[in-house]
Amino acid sequence: MSFNVKDIRKDFPTLAVKIHGQPLVYFDNAATTLKPESVLRALEQYYTTGTSNVHRGVHYLSERATANFEKSRDKVRDFIHAAKSTEIIFTRGTTEGINLVAHGYGRKFLKKGDEILISGMEHHSNIVPWQILCDEVGGNLKVIPLNDDGDIIFEEFEKLLSKKTKFVSIVYISNSLGTINPIKKVIDAAHQFNIPVLIDGAQAISHQKIDVQESGCDFFAFSAHKLFGPTGVGVLYGKAELLNQMNPYQSGGDMISSVTFEKTTYNILPYKFEAGTPNVAGVIALSAALEYIEKVGYDNIVAYEHDLLEYGNKVLSEIPNLRIIGTAREKAAIFSFVLPNIHPHDLGTLVDEDGVAIRTGHHCTQPVMKHFNIPATSRASLAFYNTKEEIDILAKSIIKAMKLFP
Ligand code: PLP
Repeated sequence: MSFNVKDIRKDFPTLAVKIHGQPLVYFDNAATTLKPESVLRALEQYYTTGTSNVHRGVHYLSERATANFEKSRDKVRDFIHAAKSTEIIFTRGTTEGINLVAHGYGRKFLKKGDEILISGMEHHSNIVPWQILCDEVGGNLKVIPLNDDGDIIFEEFEKLLSKKTKFVSIVYISNSLGTINPIKKVIDAAHQFNIPVLIDGAQAISHQKIDVQESGCDFFAFSAHKLFGPTGVGVLYGKAELLNQMNPYQSGGDMISSVTFEKTTYNILPYKFEAGTPNVAGVIALSAALEYIEKVGYDNIVAYEHDLLEYGNKVLSEIPNLRIIGTAREKAAIFSFVLPNIHPHDLGTLVDEDGVAIRTGHHCTQPVMKHFNIPATSRASLAFYNTKEEIDILAKSIIKAMKLFP
C-alpha cells in the first residue's frame, strides 16, 4: 500500500474531534493510541450480534466467538512471528504479562542471592514486580546504568552478567526517552549465560516489526491499546518450553483440566495462564488492529515516523532553551523535553488550549527523572497518523506559552 497520511487520518474518528474549538493534535500515543474504524466495528459487532462466552458453549454464538477468539491468537502468532499459537497468552496488558512471568517463572525458579537485571529506563511495570519478587525470594535487583543520551551502557551490562544473574527484563523502546535498545545484543549476551530474557514491547510494537524468533527473546509482552487496539487486553509471548515449566499466575475456571477437592490438574498451554472469562471483544478487536497495521505496513510506518522524528528534532531544537531529554542515536518519534521557566504541567495545560494533547509528568519512569535530575518532562509521542504540520502547531503553542513565563 502506498502511504498517504491524509487517507490514513480518515480511518481514525477521534482525529476529527475539536478540542476547545481547535483541531485535535494527538501527541499522547505512548500513553494510548487512537483506534481505527475497523477496530471499533469489531468491538461493536461482538457486542451487538456476537456476544457469547468462549470455550464453554456448544451453541452457535459461543462456537463462533471461540473460533474468532482463537483466530485472533493465530493472527498474533503470525504478527510477532512466534512458532506456535500455544505460546500466545492473552492478558490484560503489558503490566499483567510482566507480573505473570515474575510470578509464574520467578517464584518458581529464583532463590536467595539470585540476581535480576533490568535497565535504568524501565517503566514502573518492569521494576515493581521484580522488586516484589526479590523481597519474596531474597533476590537482588541490579540495574544497567544509562548515559546522558539515554542509552544503556552496554559494557556495564556485560559486567553485571554473572552466574548469579537468573533473569533479564528490559524495555525495547523507552516510553519517556524514545531510546530503542539493542535487544538482540542484550539477548545474545544473556543467553551466553543461559539467562532468560523478557522484552517489554509496550512501545516497540507500534513502531516496528517484531520477530520474537529472530530476536530469540524468551518472553515478549505488549498491550493492545498502544497498538491501535482496545484497552484491557494484551499479549504475553513465551517460549513453550518455559511456559510449560511455570506455575499458573491466576487460578480458577478455564485454566484447569480437572478439579477434585483433593487435587487439581492444570490445562495445557495457553489456557493454563488464562483463568476466568477473557476479554473476548478485546481479543477479537486486537486482530482487527493487527490487520490494520499490516495494511499500512511497517516499512511505511518506520520510514514515515523517521521523517517525523528528524523534523521534530529540528523544529524543537530551534526553540530557545528547550532541552530534549533522550537523544539516543536509535530513537522512536518520542520527544521528552523541559523548559527553564515552565513546569511541564503548566505547559501541558497551555498547549491543550490550542488543541494539543501531550503528556506531562514522570511517565511512570521516576528513576529516569532522577537520572536526569528533573522532576518531570513534557512528552510528545507520535504515531503514523501525525504530521509535520502538527509538529509546527506544537512548536508555535510552546513559544506562545513561553511568553507567559518569561
Ligand atoms: N512498559 C512501557 C514501556 C510502557 O510505556 C507502558 C505503558 O505506558 C507499560 C509498560 C505498561 O503498559 P500497560 O499500562 O498497558 O500495562
